[in-house]
Amino acid sequence: MRPTGSWLAELRRLTLFVFISTAVGWLLGFPAQLLALVLLLLLLRWLYQLLRLRRWLADPLQEPPEAPGIWGAIYDRLYQLQREARQGRAQLQSRLDYLQDSLSSMHDGAVMVSMAGSIEWSNAAAERLLGLRFPADRGQALLNLVRLPDFHRYFLAGDFQDPLQLRLKSEPEQFLQFAVTPFGSGDRLVFVRDVTKEARLEQMRRDFVGNVSHELRTPLTVIKGYLDTILANSGQLEPRFLRPLQQMEQQAQRMETLLKDLLWLSRIETVRSKARAEQVDVASLLQELESELQSSHPQRRLELQLECNERINGDYRELHSAASNLVLNACKYSKDDSIVTVRWRRQGQELLLSVEDRGIGIDPVHLPRLTERFYRVDDSRSSRTGGTGLGLAIVKHVAAGHNAQLRIDSKPGVGSTFTLAFPAPA
Ligand code: ADP
Repeated sequence: MRPTGSWLAELRRLTLFVFISTAVGWLLGFPAQLLALVLLLLLLRWLYQLLRLRRWLADPLQEPPEAPGIWGAIYDRLYQLQREARQGRAQLQSRLDYLQDSLSSMHDGAVMVSMAGSIEWSNAAAERLLGLRFPADRGQALLNLVRLPDFHRYFLAGDFQDPLQLRLKSEPEQFLQFAVTPFGSGDRLVFVRDVTKEARLEQMRRDFVGNVSHELRTPLTVIKGYLDTILANSGQLEPRFLRPLQQMEQQAQRMETLLKDLLWLSRIETVRSKARAEQVDVASLLQELESELQSSHPQRRLELQLECNERINGDYRELHSAASNLVLNACKYSKDDSIVTVRWRRQGQELLLSVEDRGIGIDPVHLPRLTERFYRVDDSRSSRTGGTGLGLAIVKHVAAGHNAQLRIDSKPGVGSTFTLAFPAPA
């Protein structure tokens, strides 16, 4: 029934009542009284319908009451709107159930945390990995139930760019990886994965590289020792053997540097960040590096700009090796007469150690892979310059161990700037 149609019918009915009651009242001799009586009855009828409407709205799941005219149309329309809203709600609920089902069946733990830090929802895997029980723990503060100090620091710091990997002191040892995604207005979704298998494989790989490098050192020292002795007495050698022996000695030297770098890298990877607790005076470290470079590369010009004297928590040897790798690269990949600028400065909440050269630069396509082990932009050039291909991998790992970031800014033909950005102490 169309509301305007029923509204017109209602108006027509009302006009008819008024007309008939006036006519009958006029015939009987008291038109005003009869009209007033009829209008009163009509008003009472409307009030009665309003009362029924109110009763029905108190319990709208019931069928709407039957009524003629405009009231029937109003009930029908309200009932229809209500049915649509119920259908919409059911659809929304089924989508929510679907979403929750998929999150619940996930192998990874998922926890929804409100802006205030309390648990809104968690899945079965979160119970297995973190001991959270849902719905019993709903409303509890996540940090009260997950008692892992490193996770507390990570969660409160609010920098979720990289996931956090933790080693639990459980039996057998277990590794968990946390990733947090902020959503809504300050809510967070915490994902937790068991990465024990991956962490063990990674450990095995590290141990293997470390052990192989270590084992290769002894035979190499023997070979190098004999070569050195033979070459020291080169006067007694047949001339045709001289060149091959010199090449062998050069390659043995390269191999020794490579093994040294590999062992150093595996040490940096295995040491835990907590062990890096020295107060390192970066300014004097750079001064030391400058004088070392002056004796090894007297032709190079190093410009040292020490704009702050802040110290950082870390490991002196590791920081020295990172800075020295960057400076040596800057020297290797630029002309002998060009300047290399090394700066140490504070910028906002960061302490920046940058090494800038005006050398060959790097094409942007290489930047994402530059810190991978043995990745080289130009193989022939790198081997000519005597690089092992491990320098930037060492720098990257030293940065990670010191909560620092390695930023590379480079333009082919113009030069490169490598920056280690450390968080400034509070
Ligand atoms: P390598 O021992 O070959 O120098 P690195 O890991 O130190 O190995 O560097 C990886 C590659 O990055 C180098 O082979 C070189 O191509 C490039 N590279 C590093 N530093 C610079 C720089 N300052 N200027 C230009 N290219 C660079």
